[in-house]
Amino acid sequence: MTKTLHCPICRKPVALDHSEVPFCSERCRTIDLGKWASGDYKISSPILDPDLLEDLEHAHQQQHPTDESKWRN
Ligand SMILES: [Zn+2]
Repeated sequence: MTKTLHCPICRKPVALDHSEVPFCSERCRTIDLGKWASGDYKISSPILDPDLLEDLEHAHQQQHPTDESKWRN
């Protein structure tokens, strides 16, 4: 049995040794490139992951401790 995955564009099964893998054809590869270029995939960008944003926010606060508290004590 030949292992296959599915073309991310049209969901057709694609053999792993296919020349255009993971796409079923050059046409689907081009469509995928077009999606990236037009920003259709930006919603899945890791930077928009809520957990990551929380970590970034936390790191930001640690890098900028409030100077005021030093003077109050
Ligand atoms: Zn396809």
